[in-house]
Amino acid sequence: MTVLSANVIESPLKTLKKYNIRPVKRLGQSFLVDNNITSRIVDSSGIGEGDTVVEIGAGLGAMTAMIAPRVKRVIALEIDPKLVAVLDSELGEIPNLEIIHIDVLSYDFSSPLKGGGKEKVIGNIPYNVSSQILFRLIEFREHISSATLMLQREVADRITALPGTKQYGIPSVIVSMHAALSQLMTVSATCFYPVPKVDSAVLKIEMREGPLYPIGDHGIFIETVKAAFAMRRKTLANNLKGMDVVRSKRADVPALLAEAGIDGRRRGETLTTEEFGRLSEAIFRMTEAR
Ligand code: SAM
Repeated sequence: MTVLSANVIESPLKTLKKYNIRPVKRLGQSFLVDNNITSRIVDSSGIGEGDTVVEIGAGLGAMTAMIAPRVKRVIALEIDPKLVAVLDSELGEIPNLEIIHIDVLSYDFSSPLKGGGKEKVIGNIPYNVSSQILFRLIEFREHISSATLMLQREVADRITALPGTKQYGIPSVIVSMHAALSQLMTVSATCFYPVPKVDSAVLKIEMREGPLYPIGDHGIFIETVKAAFAMRRKTLANNLKGMDVVRSKRADVPALLAEAGIDGRRRGETLTTEEFGRLSEAIFRMTEAR
């Protein structure tokens, strides 16, 4: 590790001062200033020698500098040009690090390992786009083995929520169908600068080789889940009537529900991941049959 990167680890606050940088709220810039926590996140991510790691929102590079000496290659993504300049200047000499100025929502996660293999993702991710980031990772799940992410605690709770609870929703179903989840730790707001209003949690998302239950088609599965939660107070049958594919194919909703073995009077939020799989499969079969 270079001396420069050691400085970055030592004090993100000093780095902010050195470059006269003011955190931008709109970009979710709350920097982790407790190095013990940064180190625990890196440890728990399970990264090792042979890994290619993509870090989302590298910021001032404190986590980046800890990751680089442990792995084969790190790709640090950052949207803010000012922070990209800091990363270039502080960490640019690290040979196995690529710094990319990009919006993570347009990053092609299949690009690092074109020849095969899966990368590991890590990041203290910007809170304002955390759901979009999760969905993008799920889209690229075939190229990712795991993602260790710091999120707003409330978002982490929503993703790991169980059916029938208030927090259970679209992300819980979609992510749990494609990944095994564990909450590794909670992190107090005081470990960040500026101090956010809420606590955070670190979630480990281990992508499955295939969906947990048969779903027929990924696109239809996503549409089914979104439709089921479209109006939380409506019954499942009524919500499904609003689904594009159901309307365009003039599908018989009670017949679809009967095929899936699900009572249409239930609300979407009571369905398990398995039931969402059955429903998605029934809708997929209907589209294939016509
Ligand atoms: N990794 C640093 C740390 O742990 O202190 C910074 C974390 S901060 C919560 C989130 C970082 O993501 C910021 O550096 C921010 O500029 C960056 N960011 C925000 N939106 C982004 C996006 N759409 N694509 C890539 N980076 C983004």
